[in-house]
Amino acid sequence: RPVAALTDRTLLTDKAYVAGRWLGAEDGRTIAVTDPFNGSVIAHVPDLGVDVVRQAIDAAAVAQVEWARRSAKERAVVLRRWYELIIENTDDLAQILTAEQGKPLAESRGEIVSNAAYLEWFGEEAKRIDGDIIPAPNRNQRVLVLKQPVGVCAAITPWNFPNGMITRKAGPALAAGCAMVLKPAAQTPLSAFALAVLAERAGVPAGVFSVVTGEARPIGMEFCHNPKIAKITFTGSTGVGRWLMKEAAEGIKRLSLELGGNAPFVVFDDADIDAAVEGAMISKFRNAGQTCVCANRIYVQESVAETFTTKLLEKVSAITLGRGTEVGVGQGPLIDERAVMKMEEHVSDALAKGGRILTGGKRSALGGTFFEPTVMNGITQDMKVAKEETFAPLAPIITFRTEEEVIAMANDSEFGLASYFYARDLGRVWRVAEALEAGMVGVNTGMLANEMAPFGGVKQSGVGREGSTYGIEGFLELKYVAVAGI
Ligand code: ADP
Repeated sequence: RPVAALTDRTLLTDKAYVAGRWLGAEDGRTIAVTDPFNGSVIAHVPDLGVDVVRQAIDAAAVAQVEWARRSAKERAVVLRRWYELIIENTDDLAQILTAEQGKPLAESRGEIVSNAAYLEWFGEEAKRIDGDIIPAPNRNQRVLVLKQPVGVCAAITPWNFPNGMITRKAGPALAAGCAMVLKPAAQTPLSAFALAVLAERAGVPAGVFSVVTGEARPIGMEFCHNPKIAKITFTGSTGVGRWLMKEAAEGIKRLSLELGGNAPFVVFDDADIDAAVEGAMISKFRNAGQTCVCANRIYVQESVAETFTTKLLEKVSAITLGRGTEVGVGQGPLIDERAVMKMEEHVSDALAKGGRILTGGKRSALGGTFFEPTVMNGITQDMKVAKEETFAPLAPIITFRTEEEVIAMANDSEFGLASYFYARDLGRVWRVAEALEAGMVGVNTGMLANEMAPFGGVKQSGVGREGSTYGIEGFLELKYVAVAGI
């Protein structure tokens, strides 16, 4: 059994957490959670009706008032405790994560630890939600600016980071004095429940953090239309984000959206090629290519294309596929059959238009949803791999001649989340960093996310930022107070 080795068995639960109570399935209505390694069912979680979601929202609305009244320091103590419990239980949480998501255990641990840091960081930030006193136009007046929590937030999270996407949202929300009702992805609810077990243990009051599971659309609809929800924070596909934005328009709800990307990864002729290969491996093949900041298009300047490609191929052929719990495994299965089909579609579209497979290009002999890590060259801008987010272990190489040309190609996308480039020339570093249409630019690095930096996108990649001192702003409203009669 994939999660047989837990030290603390109470972290593995199939119950939803609503208003401080653990709820099983009603009338036997459940959703199966499977191990992507072999498709075996590992749990059945409740398929909750909208009435239960409403109970969670009602309880959040009540609990939020008392939570917001606490001092920032009191909220920080609870968030710090939650953070510590996650760190103490990293190994168990990683087992649960890998069982339902498939990624290698080392990556699961990395996700858990680096994202628990958002609870730690935002707990500290809570103490620095400063207001302002600004000059008034009249002698007898003062102008004050207060920062107050937006209220009850609804969160919807994806399956690619089942644990980390939750702490990233709950951290700033709870720090600001908001309550949160979370709907995790149907594929990965067990990590969310485990986090709720620890939240309860840390002293997060009943109702301040609830986790509901059930059909996505009706729950999303309830979040968008329930007047007690002030804000929706979502990470997922651009299509669903667009739909939420439309639905939430009626109530003029606040929105934070972390949507799809189509990250360009550019290697210039003055780059440290070994470092660029290292960065490309991390950026492209982490989580089997299933992250919104994964390099989607790799642009290499003509004169260094051969060297870069040879070195990349060496590293890619060294990736070991297998079950995430096995030692030495670098790539697990893709999340589901749909993901594999998208990868196949992108490979065959590229082949039909003149692309070449240098390694991989097909399903792995391991079967199931395993796909060989793939490198292709001869890629052009009109291929699907260059236009759409592949979300799979496919590295398409496009060669270019000049800086202007590659900037135009990189920006030729409706997305603008992550971007990366490798160069040593200082002038070029500035020019390219400023010219790329993206919310984030990695210069000589393939890793961008951390709790101290503002993560987010421009164009159709989203609205708002997570992490950093900016990350709490989306959970706060400004209130201007005029004090007269002085
Ligand atoms: P993916 O295609 O990678 O699964 P989605 O955007 O579909 O990405 O999923 C991200 C999250 O959004 C998941 O929690 C999913 O259940 C949820 N979701 C999908 N469709 C809707 C919807 N219509 N309303 C609300 N949430 C949705």
